[in-house]
Parts: sequence; C-alpha cells; structure tokens
Amino acid sequence: NKTIILKSRPKGIPTLDNFDFKEEEKPDPNEGEVLLKTKYVSVDPYLRGRMRDEESYIEPFEIDKPIQSGIVAEVVESKNDSFKKGDYVSGMLEWKEFQTSNGKQLQKVDETKAPLSAYQGVLGLTGLTAYLGLLNIGEPKEGETVLVSGASGAVGSIVGQIAKIKGCKAVGIAGSDEKLTTMKEKFGFDEGINYKTTSDMKQAIKEACPNGVDVYFDNVGGEILDATLANINRHGRVINCGAISLYNKKEQPTGPRLETTIVKKSIKMQGFIVRDFGEKFEEAIAQLGKWLEEDKLTYSETIVEGFDNIPKAFIDLFEGKNEGKMIVKVS
Ligand code: NDP
Repeated sequence: NKTIILKSRPKGIPTLDNFDFKEEEKPDPNEGEVLLKTKYVSVDPYLRGRMRDEESYIEPFEIDKPIQSGIVAEVVESKNDSFKKGDYVSGMLEWKEFQTSNGKQLQKVDETKAPLSAYQGVLGLTGLTAYLGLLNIGEPKEGETVLVSGASGAVGSIVGQIAKIKGCKAVGIAGSDEKLTTMKEKFGFDEGINYKTTSDMKQAIKEACPNGVDVYFDNVGGEILDATLANINRHGRVINCGAISLYNKKEQPTGPRLETTIVKKSIKMQGFIVRDFGEKFEEAIAQLGKWLEEDKLTYSETIVEGFDNIPKAFIDLFEGKNEGKMIVKVS
C-alpha cells in the first residue's frame, strides 16, 4: 500500500525531491469504518499553500506525513451501515492507494450520472468555486464584460461558460495559443489573450475589452491583476479567487498597488474560500448538473495515469501543462 508524504517544504517551484513514497500495510477497517481504494486524485494549485508552514484558512501539511486532496475512491469493504461495497465516494483523503475512513466526511457519488472524475471537477469544488465566486461576488449582468485569468484551467473554463450563459461577453487570459483556441471553440469565450506572448497586458486587455472590464475573475494575481485594474469600469467587481502567479514566489509583493483606481472607480474586490458558501453547494451542484444535461456547459480534463505520477501532475500545474481539471487516475 503506497503512500506519498511531504518530505520537505518547497522553496520556489515544487520539485519531485519535496515528495517521498512509503510502503505501509493495507489497513483493516474497524467497526463503523470503510476501506477505500483510491480511484481519482485531484491535484490543485492551492495545495502549494498547504506546503508552507504558515497560518492559513487550513492547517499546513506536516513533514513526513501524507498529503491530502480531493479523492474519488471505491468502497472495497464496509463495516459502516451507510456504505456498501462497490459504492463510490468523494472526500478529502490522503495520497494512499488504500485507506480507512469513518465515513463522516465522505459524499457518495453516482457513476451513472457523470463520469467519476467529474466529481473532482465541474461537479466538485472546481465547479462550485467558479459558480459561487462568479455569481455571488461578481454579480455579472447581461451585456457586461467578464474577464477571466487562468481561463483554460479547471475553474477558469467553467467561469467563462457561466458568464456566457448569463449573457455577458467572456474574455479569457491563458498561457498558449492552443489554449486560446480551445477556450473559444469549446467553451465559447469571445476573445483570448496569451499572457506569455503579450508584452503589454494593459494594452491587450484594452483591445480585447473595448467597453472596459466589468467583472474580473482573478485566478492568478500579480501583474495581470494590475493590468486589469487599469482597464476596469466604474463599479467593477474583482473576484480574488487565487493568485497562482505568486504561489512559488519566495517574497510576496505588497499591495494593492492600484488603490487610487479602486477608490476613484468604486471597485469591489473580494476574496473568498469556496467553503464560505457551503450552504449554497446543493443548489449550485444541481444547477451545474442541469446545465451539463442541457449541453449548456462542458468541461475538459487532463488525466494523468498512475499513482506514482501524482507529485509530477501537481508540479505540472505551475507550468500550465493542464487544460481543464488536472486529475490523476490511479486504478
Ligand atoms: P488550473 O486548472 O487553472 O491550473 C493552474 C493553471 O494556472 C495552469 O494550467 C496555468 O495555465 C496557470 N498558471 C500557472 N502558473 C501561472 C503563472 N505564473 N501566471 C499565470 N498563470 C499561471 O487550477 P484551478 O482551476 O484548480 O485553480 C485556479 C485558481 O483558483 C488557483 O489560483 C487556485 O488556487 C484557485 N482556487 C481557489 C479556490 C477558492 O476557494 N478560493 C478553490 C479552488 C481553486 P496557463 O497555461 O494559462 O499559464
């Protein structure tokens, strides 16, 4: 039974040396527990934050202890009346091939309604982040321009589609021309900006958003946020979802640097953790599921095969090797 532990805290971009594999006994479930076999592992940018030893909304990973993330697993043995052998569940679980759980934090997932991997993506925290962040903080109105960074990623690609469903113009920023093509052809974005080949982001945003930016869904922070604020409209809304461009920086810049813009244009900037909206999860998942059924919403996944490749898949997020949700298929 393989397990992956955090061997050392990354300095800058994580490397394979920060992780280690351990072999341990396959556990036996006690009364009230289930034995789980890992099927799909979600790797996410926010895990980088948990590798730092600092106070946050969630405790840091400990050195020499297993890493955790969202996992879809199969119940292979059950001593808990709420679950039977063959059920599929999702939850925050450890990077192990097999593990036991008392079931309290597990949600059952239905393979007949959607592929199991989708419960880590569009029907999981990814879809919830996009939906609840955009609609509750961004409050997009028909005819407005919604700009999204990290737009070809898991959250960003869903945000753009919801913006279109709400009758907005959707403009996406991503790191390759291939990604821009997919964003437009598959997800319906109106315009795309490749931030890696664009020398003047402020100008590029101005050209792609001739009516200015009403809502900015920020997944990356840093300079792209600055360039967006230079193009934001009066009463614009900025959803601070993530700041991946800063996650591997040894020194964090201070800010916000465009304070005069924020004041003069009466901007709302608001950060959030998806769990802040916990009471709206059920309604949000129902709506996302309905849009999927109606073909109003679609999604991409980058599926990496094999338990041993979990650390590499995580590291690859910072090089933009994924389109849509990055998921590791274990068995
Ligand atoms: P993604 O699927 O978007 O994967 C990360 C993407 O970020 C990569 O594909 C890459 O695409 C882009 N990227 C990597 N490095 C940089 C950089 N230096 N500058 C700009 N872009 C970069 O991940 P998720 O959709 O899972 O997460 C998106 C964001 O949302 C993250 O910031 C994450 O932390 C945040 N998040 C926040 C939550 C919350 O509750 N607030 C919940 C879930 C996620 P490219 O090729 O375009 O560079």
